Amino acid sequence: MKALVWHGTADVRYDTVPDPEIEQPRDAIVKVTSCAICGSDLHLYDHFMPGMEKGDILGHEFMGEVVDVGAEAKSALKVGDRVVVPFTIWCGECDQCRRGNYSVCERSNRNKAMADKLFGHTTAGLFGYTHLTGGYAGGQAEYVRVPFADRTHVKIPDGLTDEQVLFLGDIFPTGWQAAAQCDIQPTDTVAIWGCGPVGQMTIRSAILLGAKQVIAIDRVPERLSMAKAGGAITINFEEESVVERLNELTGGKGPEKCIDAVGMEAHATATLDSMYDRAKQALALESDRAHVLREMMYVCRPAGTLSIPGVYGGLIDKVPFGMSMNKGLTWRMGQTHVNRWTDDLLRRIQEGQIDPSFVITHSVGLADGPGMYQTFRDKRDGCIKVVLKP
Ligand SMILES: [Zn+2]
Ligand SMILES: [Zn+2]
Repeated sequence: MKALVWHGTADVRYDTVPDPEIEQPRDAIVKVTSCAICGSDLHLYDHFMPGMEKGDILGHEFMGEVVDVGAEAKSALKVGDRVVVPFTIWCGECDQCRRGNYSVCERSNRNKAMADKLFGHTTAGLFGYTHLTGGYAGGQAEYVRVPFADRTHVKIPDGLTDEQVLFLGDIFPTGWQAAAQCDIQPTDTVAIWGCGPVGQMTIRSAILLGAKQVIAIDRVPERLSMAKAGGAITINFEEESVVERLNELTGGKGPEKCIDAVGMEAHATATLDSMYDRAKQALALESDRAHVLREMMYVCRPAGTLSIPGVYGGLIDKVPFGMSMNKGLTWRMGQTHVNRWTDDLLRRIQEGQIDPSFVITHSVGLADGPGMYQTFRDKRDGCIKVVLKP
């Protein structure tokens, strides 16, 4: 079959690879009908995340049709079912899965020992996202093996297009969780750093959850207009001071809820801290750029909440922890517990409360994937979200 394969920094190729097969009784094989490039794939493309190997198949946002089912997954799935596959693989049986904490499933990471050592405890297996999270082949491919498939799926009813439901596998529940874990009140101002695909889903989620005002921060004009169309007040950080504008919009009090939809590769105008981060990251003395985190901690209203869906990889420097402690800030973060949210979100799509396909700017064949990685990374051609068709 054909798949998008990682070969090194900024080197993704459309290769021929062996077809996947059932390996475990709870597996299923899905023929991919649509997949997407996620913002967090760019951390792999730029090689900021450790644990990638030459030959790894990328992709963790995909859907398709079940074409083969292992013996123990037959009670939940049959050939012909149409499914979205969540990027967090969950077993449904471990202590964390029973609590609904699917992204920290204790059993789905087959390289558990590696993650135990690095993080103190393992996190869930993820598709196409480094050997630290299991080294599973991803879904930017014609076919994919889904482990623990009897749990790790969202069944799609008839009458919905791929484009309407594809993002249930990642960016929609990711944006939703980021907003939901802020416990948004009708009096709250929610500020969101980053208007990439996850940021866009976060904006719409915060509005659906009833925030008083939602403020979106970015520097790319197309992303800012999409944010505005979704109901946000926008700030272009290259044109105005984020802190001053946020204070202005909140009567000097600061936003109650601050969401980092940027993560480890933060951009900023030439501030002292961002130059420090870039230098240290280039020398491999620091893994992540923490500019957004510092700005959120500074501007957030005391007793407020910081929510972090943006992906970080390792160590960050010069984080003003005393500021956070003394202001009494609550930190909520993590990979998305996808299936915790998908029943509710699928219902909201069916009821027409939201159509996540608004975010798609590019739809191309899988063979065009390598070029689209570059276009998406460089934010050229108005590119906000790419869908690929195998
Ligand atoms: Zn993702
Ligand atoms: Zn589990």
